[in-house]
Amino acid sequence: MASILITGGAGFIGSHIARALLDQGHDLVLVDNLDAYYPPAIKRRNLDLLRAAGDFTFAEGDAGDYRDLYELIRRHRVEVIFHQSARPGIRQSLADPQTTHRQNVVTTLHLLQAAIDQDVELFVNASSSSVYGEAASLPLEETQPPRPVSPYGVSKMAAEAYTRCYHALYGLPTVSLRYFTVYGPRMRPDLAIFIFTRALLEGRRPVVFGDGEQKRDFTYIDDVVAANLAVLERPPAGEVINIGYGSHVSVNHLLAMLGDLTGVDVAPLYRERVRGDVSDTWACVDKARRLLGWEPTTDLATGLRRFVDWYRGAQDFYAPLLAGY
Ligand code: NAD
Repeated sequence: MASILITGGAGFIGSHIARALLDQGHDLVLVDNLDAYYPPAIKRRNLDLLRAAGDFTFAEGDAGDYRDLYELIRRHRVEVIFHQSARPGIRQSLADPQTTHRQNVVTTLHLLQAAIDQDVELFVNASSSSVYGEAASLPLEETQPPRPVSPYGVSKMAAEAYTRCYHALYGLPTVSLRYFTVYGPRMRPDLAIFIFTRALLEGRRPVVFGDGEQKRDFTYIDDVVAANLAVLERPPAGEVINIGYGSHVSVNHLLAMLGDLTGVDVAPLYRERVRGDVSDTWACVDKARRLLGWEPTTDLATGLRRFVDWYRGAQDFYAPLLAGY
């Protein structure tokens, strides 16, 4: 069993990875600053759910704080880092690009430096399909040159580049996983699937930015967790790998599916397209199959049903917290 540090361990993806690693019996250290990008009460609840599943160390603090981090890695003899903390969100990165840069690039650099200083054996970096920008061809293959069109995408590209650079310079085994729009129970409340579901169940008209014909590859959380576990089993050092379902549907289609699942049929409100929002994402996952022996297993219909069922059960907690959000 390994000693594993997860940055952003109280967040959506980090807490799901933590749960799976706890179940496997690893020693976990979670670092999270419980930032207010969305209500910290949601992150505290994620931690409470984890505590019910097993013991782990939680360090509330900034993963970009080099000294604290260095000490934490040393004290717990950390062997593996799953770096999941970030300032997510494209729109937020347009409003405050400096914070996005600091949280996503500088923090990653500090972590990499601490990792080589402390002989960490594996560094797994959460990257994003946002590094691609507008697709030159589809599906998106890792060989396609990244051309991000938002400060968020640029920050994830820079974090990936540092990650690869530390592998090349110091032989630190690193892998960057490019996640494609991740959804599922406890997902970020600023993402379309959550926003649409809330609106439908609260009898409001969902707001769609653009004409709704933009397409996304929606990836269920369990598949993302499985990809991270696969990296732990056989890390393909120095690689960048797409993690998506491997198909794409339009936002209008997604909304129709959620309408069917919730039994609510209301016309959306269309608003101006958000700058930095690309028209299409669709992952080629052949490299993940080849290098990780990983296969996405949850199709959109199944994943959305699980999400809506979960949200109905958690609505009493979430709805008051997110009122006006
Ligand atoms: P999230 O916001 O739910 O989780 C991130 C966590 O990191 C939060 O709990 C936050 O408090 C914490 N955090 C932020 N900055 C920190 C810092 N400096 N120090 C310590 N903690 C910090 O987001 P998520 O959706 O779980 O995303 C996880 C990772 O996956 C991020 O790197 C994100 O860029 C990437 N990603 C997510 C998606 C998606 O669709 N959810 C898609 C592509 C990539």
